[in-house]
Amino acid sequence: MSADASAPLEPAATVDPDVLRGRLEAVRAEIDEAAAAAGRDPAGITCIVITKFHPLELVDALHGLGVRDFGENRHPESRDKAARVHELGDGARLHFVGQLQRNKARQVGRYADAVHSIDRPELVEALATLDRGERGPLDATLQLSLDGDTARGGVPLDAAEALAERVLETPSLRLRGVMAVAPIGADTDRAFAEVRAVSERIRRLAPDADWISAGMSHDFRSAVSQGATHLRIGTAITGNRPSAP
Ligand SMILES: *Cc1c(COP(=O)(O)O)cnc(C)c1O
Repeated sequence: MSADASAPLEPAATVDPDVLRGRLEAVRAEIDEAAAAAGRDPAGITCIVITKFHPLELVDALHGLGVRDFGENRHPESRDKAARVHELGDGARLHFVGQLQRNKARQVGRYADAVHSIDRPELVEALATLDRGERGPLDATLQLSLDGDTARGGVPLDAAEALAERVLETPSLRLRGVMAVAPIGADTDRAFAEVRAVSERIRRLAPDADWISAGMSHDFRSAVSQGATHLRIGTAITGNRPSAP
């Protein structure tokens, strides 16, 4: 059975662990298939499971099924999820993927293992004085705005390299690559090809900044075909989200 993102799905907290396992395996199989079709090694693709709005028990269940990369989109929920993820351990990481407010940036930067949504110089400035102690620099990707509507987050494509340079000058941050959300109604292959083109330009400045965080439940196959290294998948695995807490 394949995970059809258009079919209504029960929230995971109320479903049998076997159902959760089934969805996870179905998505993993589809990632493997999409990778094979693109001539890519699936080992180079990280599936981040987005657990926003779901209870901590879902994090526990997913961790038990081998998930190690978790994603959240807003503080303070992300702080509680990060604490749980780190308690469960065994290499488990919390990725912050939502729009970040300047006045929360340092708090998020302290507990998150990666922030995918760096999209303006003022965030870099706020994070420049981040002190993570032993944990070392914070993994950071630049969120790109593919449609130029920066109200939804993201740096305009023609400003991405300048922002990358700001991150590279900031010792508390480690530039890992780029992130994007395909615009609603977009041709996703084209949108993600654009992300890959910007990624190539950024890698000329920072060769190891090779993360391409792109692809959600409805478009991850397209993202894999265009080189995505980090998929951010929620509902196809977790079921529909409960309403915002
Ligand atoms: C919620 C969210 C996702 C996951 O979306 P699904 O459609 O549930 O897979 C991915 N990326 C970001 C930035 C999100 O906020």
